[in-house]
Amino acid sequence: MRLSTSKWTGHSTSPFLLEVSKNRVQVYLLLVSWQKSRRKSLKKMKVRTKIPEDTKRKVLIEAGHRCAIQTCKHARVEIAHIIPWAESHDDSFENLIALCPNCHDLYDKDKKIDRKAMLIYKQNLGLLGSKYGEFERRVLHFFCENQTVNAISLPGLNEIQVYYLLKDGLLAKNGKHSDILSDNIPTWEEYQLTDAGKAFVEDLR
Ligand SMILES: [Zn+2]
Repeated sequence: MRLSTSKWTGHSTSPFLLEVSKNRVQVYLLLVSWQKSRRKSLKKMKVRTKIPEDTKRKVLIEAGHRCAIQTCKHARVEIAHIIPWAESHDDSFENLIALCPNCHDLYDKDKKIDRKAMLIYKQNLGLLGSKYGEFERRVLHFFCENQTVNAISLPGLNEIQVYYLLKDGLLAKNGKHSDILSDNIPTWEEYQLTDAGKAFVEDLR
């Protein structure tokens, strides 16, 4: 008997098998595209890692191990993201700030402190920590805590103590001083917050 050369025999494939292999190809292609999209989403979905200890330490030192909100200054602090991690994936020093649990909630959950305000708090920490000396920081905190006071008296020849506040135009001599005792040196002279100084202190409050 002659073997049929029809598609039913020999190397030809039955419609059923063709259908099966077509389905297999489709499944394979689906699998490949799923794997591709999974790889893409995994790339996007960064794995959250621990903030390095060095960065944490730097953030805590920047705020003096106190809450960065000047009027709070609570000693129990945690590290907070200025732009939330879920949004920024940014654990850099610039995006972190030391906050007490209460202020952290006011920012993250209750939205009572907005992002712009938090950025100003961070900026002020930087300015305070890197530029102004201990005495100048005390002067600024003094004005922060005494809202009705705009001037302070310092012993004569003490300009150097508030040098950067004078240089940045936040503080200026207002001409009031004690009697001049000797060598043109008054025992005290008055320094006044300028308009820029008032705005700066207002941001710190
Ligand atoms: Zn606080």
